[in-house]
Amino acid sequence: MDIKRRPIIVGNWKMNGLTNFIEDLAGALANKFARKNSSHPFDMLICPPTTLLYPIGKIISETGLCLGGQDCHMSKSGAHTGDVSAEMLKDLGCSYVILGHSERRTDHNETNEIVKRKVQAALDANLISIICVGESAVERKHGVTADVVTSQILACIPQNATADNIVIAYEPIWAIGTGDTPTSKEVQSIHALIRQIIGKKIGVDMAKRTRVLYGGSVKPSNSVELMGLSDVDGALVGGASLSETDFWDIAKSYTK
Ligand code: PEP
Repeated sequence: MDIKRRPIIVGNWKMNGLTNFIEDLAGALANKFARKNSSHPFDMLICPPTTLLYPIGKIISETGLCLGGQDCHMSKSGAHTGDVSAEMLKDLGCSYVILGHSERRTDHNETNEIVKRKVQAALDANLISIICVGESAVERKHGVTADVVTSQILACIPQNATADNIVIAYEPIWAIGTGDTPTSKEVQSIHALIRQIIGKKIGVDMAKRTRVLYGGSVKPSNSVELMGLSDVDGALVGGASLSETDFWDIAKSYTK
């Protein structure tokens, strides 16, 4: 039987946006989303910087648009200056958190083990984790993409994860912010592999229901093709999520 997975379009604002973004971008998207909420066939999530979570949470509440953090600490609370716990994100209205983004792995030396502990903290706080995996340009050149992604998935997903509390985002590092993307054939084949590995970790039925997103230079001009692939269940969008029209046009791939 064919399992239907509800697509999700995620905007990762990274370290961008001051308070003037709140109305311009989040408010505009909330208006659009709320108007179409009853009929559109996708979920939409925005992950602004931590400083904007509270005001944006207020603007988008009741619209159906979801809110997410870009990271969380692995501990519940304590002496961790500058960090934010999963529980704190939940308290601000978040339902998701991005974990293991390649920029965090590089800038903060996050290992798969650390990512797994953060995912566990998010699960404990009832947040859905968007776990990022993907190979570097050098790894791609050496033909080890499948090995890298396989070991990341196996190491980052806790045993008690389910299709309802994790989402996987395949983000080839060399495609992030560069304008380059893998071919559709490559994306479909790595997504199918990811689903297989999730199956090994938490069971085949769970894997069939788990959403696997593609991220890396998604834009309106390539989103219809990428989102049309059978194992792609949405997009994690960086740069293009800072433009209301581009982000909305990407989401509309699911209405074409
Ligand atoms: C990202 O960093 O998650 C990302 C996908 O960025 P971009 O869309 O700008 O490539």
